[in-house]
Amino acid sequence: MPMEPICAPVTPLLSSPVAIIKVSGDSLSRVLEPLAQLPKPRMAALRRLEWDGYSERALVLHFPAPHSYTGEDVVEFHLHGNPILVRRFLEYLGGIGIRLAKPGEFTQRALLNGKQDLLDVEALKDLMDAATDTQIRQAQARLGGVPAWIREAKEKIAFWVARAEAAVDYGEDENINFLDMGALKSNVAVLNETFHVEQRRSASARWLKDGVRVAIVGKPNAGKSTLFNALAGEDRAIVTEIPGTTRDVIEVKCEWAGLPLCLFDTAGLRHSDDPIERLGVARVDPILEQADYVLHLVPAPDSAPDPEILQRLAPYQEKVLIVRNKCDLAESDGIRVSAINGELEPLEQAFKHRFFGEFTPDACLGALATKRQCELLADLIQQMEMISTLLDSCPVELPASLLQGAWLLIMRLTGEDRADTTLGALFSGFCLGK
Ligand code: GDP
Repeated sequence: MPMEPICAPVTPLLSSPVAIIKVSGDSLSRVLEPLAQLPKPRMAALRRLEWDGYSERALVLHFPAPHSYTGEDVVEFHLHGNPILVRRFLEYLGGIGIRLAKPGEFTQRALLNGKQDLLDVEALKDLMDAATDTQIRQAQARLGGVPAWIREAKEKIAFWVARAEAAVDYGEDENINFLDMGALKSNVAVLNETFHVEQRRSASARWLKDGVRVAIVGKPNAGKSTLFNALAGEDRAIVTEIPGTTRDVIEVKCEWAGLPLCLFDTAGLRHSDDPIERLGVARVDPILEQADYVLHLVPAPDSAPDPEILQRLAPYQEKVLIVRNKCDLAESDGIRVSAINGELEPLEQAFKHRFFGEFTPDACLGALATKRQCELLADLIQQMEMISTLLDSCPVELPASLLQGAWLLIMRLTGEDRADTTLGALFSGFCLGK
């Protein structure tokens, strides 16, 4: 079915050296004929574009189908970067039947035309949203096609689907054993082992993608703001010796030791008569709820953590880490840091151990990382486990339908089933022109 031509600015609508407008559709050389003769494929050429009294010398590029981003004809116009000029040009294109693209529509067409798979599209989205260097590297590692382990699993499952279907169709033939249940189960066990490793890798990868939400709590003067700034690598929170200065909750996204963090600096956890400070204290609870890790900062010179704070943190105990700060001043047990001197190595180890376990952050690069992907992988594992529990003597229809289910899950993972209902939400999160 021919797709109607679409256009969009690829560069932001700001005053800038160059503004790029992209057009995609079928037979663009005919559609754009009134405007300009298109250059040779993939060769940049200068063209004078004349419309509605405007006269613009522009660089034009032509990527004929199917060798383009969308798989359709694509033309790029590089105009002078004036936002009004760009608007007028888009209006003109609208007048010759080239409508403005919806967010993500170019990429959606690329997916439809098989130029990209769904895993690529999701990685692209994450690349555009990445807020830290590690997140950029992680999204880049996920670009570039279906990972080998998925391709191999798909091939193996396809093989067994074919065997199982043959067994269902020709099961009467006693001489041929189409479906050797023993061989199937041992193959499924091998596949599932890979799936489990990938599941653990992607659990860690999701921390890289989404960031770890860290709340820093402790009594006034424990060094919370100092630690906050040491982790954030910039002076975001006010550091002061007067107890209770950090009255509101301060939040900052940053990357520390290769880990994307979202840090919350909370008001001193204590009773107060000062109403502003009390407000800050009241706001701590939702943050403790949301946090993935609560760092309870206890000055090393203190003989023990404050019992009142311990009590407040009790409901969140499984995600609380007691960190001894000011270890330059006194000896203590446990995770020992000196926030003021940036000596945070034991804390870094604790983070890595908790969120990455057996993997280094680098070992998680390329792993599945979106909620959709991880849920499908979990379903796939469950499906494979059901196959492993089948009796060798069970009717062949059972493994046949479970294998078929596994096959469908893989197809959904790569987007080859073309029926994913989450697609709309995915593309609407893209920026215009992508
Ligand atoms: P908060 O009230 O918990 O946010 O504490 P601050 O970060 O404002 O720190 C209180 C005081 O402790 C400041 O004078 C800091 O310079 C000092 N401090 C913070 N961390 C350390 C540390 O590791 N060693 C030493 N010696 N002093 C620190």
